[in-house]
Amino acid sequence: MFQYDKGIKINGTDLWLDAQKSVGLCCVSHSHMDHAVKHTKSLATDKTIRFLNQRIGKSKSTCLTFKKPYEIDGCTITLFPAGHILGSAQVFVEKDGQTLLYSGDFNLDESATAEPIEIPESDILIMECTFGKPVYRFPKRKIVADQLISFVNNTFKQNAVPVVSGYALGKAQEAMKILGDAGFELSVHGSVAVLAKIYEEFGINFGIWSKFNKAELDGKVLVVPPSAIKNRMVKNIPNRRTVFLTGWAVHAGTKYRRGVDEALPFSDHADFDGLIEYAKRVNPKKIFTTHGFEEFPHYLRQLGFDAEPLKKIKQLSLF
Ligand SMILES: [Zn+2]
Repeated sequence: MFQYDKGIKINGTDLWLDAQKSVGLCCVSHSHMDHAVKHTKSLATDKTIRFLNQRIGKSKSTCLTFKKPYEIDGCTITLFPAGHILGSAQVFVEKDGQTLLYSGDFNLDESATAEPIEIPESDILIMECTFGKPVYRFPKRKIVADQLISFVNNTFKQNAVPVVSGYALGKAQEAMKILGDAGFELSVHGSVAVLAKIYEEFGINFGIWSKFNKAELDGKVLVVPPSAIKNRMVKNIPNRRTVFLTGWAVHAGTKYRRGVDEALPFSDHADFDGLIEYAKRVNPKKIFTTHGFEEFPHYLRQLGFDAEPLKKIKQLSLF
């Protein structure tokens, strides 16, 4: 039903899913840079296309609506929300009586800014497994959000500036939403701000925030991408406490490696239990894993699934 070579190509069509090279026709799951390539024509949600236009420039595109089937080139594709970042989608393909679900990046836990995940059943599943080892079990998001708010309150009590670091698209805006809803005023790094404005276009409200200005930091929480932590912008703030939001925070050494005061296990990917639950809910006959640990299929096979890592393969048909 498909071939895999720097992207998933649906056999008998010109359609690619998340091709990592420029192709004629590609359905793009979401707008993180490892999935963002300029194609002749892209299919994606309206939000993903808006982010892609901002990040890599405009190209020909068609906006797809969640859960509305779209006929193209002899197959039908339907996008389902993936719960990863705003506009992120799983791609469900029906062709010649077979079904294939490509997960993209996904998260089962509830997010303050992404659409809640909805999971269809499928014959074939291609799934990400970023956190596909049992050590990666995260607390519920609400608990981590409360820890973030406590970090900010404690930092203000020490008369210091709280600096919150998360990836510029998705994580940073979710931190902004949680902190804005908690009543904090925010000062935001330019790379986060430009994407936050797009979130606002789609109705996400962050409360009171402004682009970073070092003269106006008093009483505000500074939100930055990870790269800014070691830059002058942050280092010139004399009295600061930094926190990094990442699933890798389950490893005790993360804060030392990242040069921050705290690291919280705040992820926009499913943890190990979430990956397993996802596979169970899709209930596939065959699973291919990608974007993660090669041993994750071993855990799926222990549960009775037919699972293997996705490798460069010429053609795959189940039946
Ligand atoms: Zn992603």
